[in-house]
Amino acid sequence: MKPKVYITRKVPDEIVTKIEDYCQVRMWDQADIPVPRAVLEEEIKNVEGLFCLLTETIDRELLGKAEQLKVISNMAVGYNNIDIEAAKEKGITVTNTPGVLTETTADLTFALLMAASRRLIESSDYLRNGNWKTWSPMQLTGQDIYGATLGIIGMGRIGASLAKRARGFDMDILYYNRSRKYDLEEELNLIYTELDSLLKQSDFICIMTPYTPETKNLIGSRELSLMKNTAILINTARGGIVNEEDLFHALKEGEIWAAGLDVFEQEPVPLEHPLLSLPNVVTLPHIGSASIKTRMKMADLAADNLLLALQNQSPKHVVI
Ligand code: NAP
Repeated sequence: MKPKVYITRKVPDEIVTKIEDYCQVRMWDQADIPVPRAVLEEEIKNVEGLFCLLTETIDRELLGKAEQLKVISNMAVGYNNIDIEAAKEKGITVTNTPGVLTETTADLTFALLMAASRRLIESSDYLRNGNWKTWSPMQLTGQDIYGATLGIIGMGRIGASLAKRARGFDMDILYYNRSRKYDLEEELNLIYTELDSLLKQSDFICIMTPYTPETKNLIGSRELSLMKNTAILINTARGGIVNEEDLFHALKEGEIWAAGLDVFEQEPVPLEHPLLSLPNVVTLPHIGSASIKTRMKMADLAADNLLLALQNQSPKHVVI
């Protein structure tokens, strides 16, 4: 008897086929609409495996309904959508998809840094809205990237890949992390710096930590006030690490110069969100890992993790 699995979103056919070779699969058959909570509550009762996305809140209440669940395979590296403690208590394995998205997310983070500093979106809109009447000396001028100081908060896989890109722009690279990375300091010429000092010295600040109780509101009004008024803050990690209300005030009052955000406390971010009203904010709909190749690799790795756990083998990436 094949184990039962539920997939919470329509994933590419080859991924479904791969899972179906070993499992009885049910799937929420929509790509752009999340599975309703009530449906998930029903489906989770009967399955041994769950393949889910970061859009699903896998909390204690939901897990309380899961009688046979052995594995939750999250198609993401971040797993703040899952109550890890509750899963642990029930002996459920949780897996994620690190590594395969590292370079793609570092690319997007650097793209966002460049877009915010050189005002790319604002400039494109300026042209299309018919405002380009002449060339003028200080028109749409931004901040230099080349030779600037980059502060990376969270020197993990993506943080290190971001530092490699910054080296190509001759940036000075500071980092703050929970633990020192001596090998990377040597290899990439990084300078370990305490958080407050990094905030004071950096022209660009990129957040690359996971979202945890320790990193919730890591950047709030106090931290923003330490930054240069020419500083640019980039967050491609998770909403909630930056206090959005405090960020709005800092940007509006000119305490910092601009921000680039791929992630928000509430996703999708409501269109009336104050941050969306500011010209000095570049906003993206959580597309850090969104290249065709990388999304396929993530889905494939999530499928492998699920199948290995259900076959009582070690998944490639286990959270718990
Ligand atoms: P990672 O390799 O685990 O790196 C995370 C780093 O953050 C580690 O070096 C860790 O320190 C550090 N850290 C954790 N808690 C900290 C704290 N309280 N203070 C300071 N440093 C702390 O993860 P990754 O693969 O680079 O991914 C990082 C995050 O990016 C993910 O968790 C995810 O939320 C986000 N992400 C977003 C997208 C997107 O689409 N926008 C895509 C991929 C990932 P240690 O070395 O001491 O453990």
